Amino acid sequence: MRGVRKENLPEKPCAVCGRPFVWRRKWARVWDEVKYCSDRCRARRGEAARPPAGQVPGAEGGATRATRSGNSA
Ligand SMILES: [Zn+2]
Repeated sequence: MRGVRKENLPEKPCAVCGRPFVWRRKWARVWDEVKYCSDRCRARRGEAARPPAGQVPGAEGGATRATRSGNSA
């Protein structure tokens, strides 16, 4: 094979599906906190493990988005 260019990008396995995913630019700041290869996997661990923290129904009437590392492209 030719043209296989290995870039020096870090990668780590997804905590949900176990597949390795590669560093992305949008994760540059939060790479240490990124544990899932996609938003889908992040959502999956949410329903599997425990309910999302800090969501009290009817407490504060606002669209609370508990995603600090979630930048949808
Ligand atoms: Zn995954």
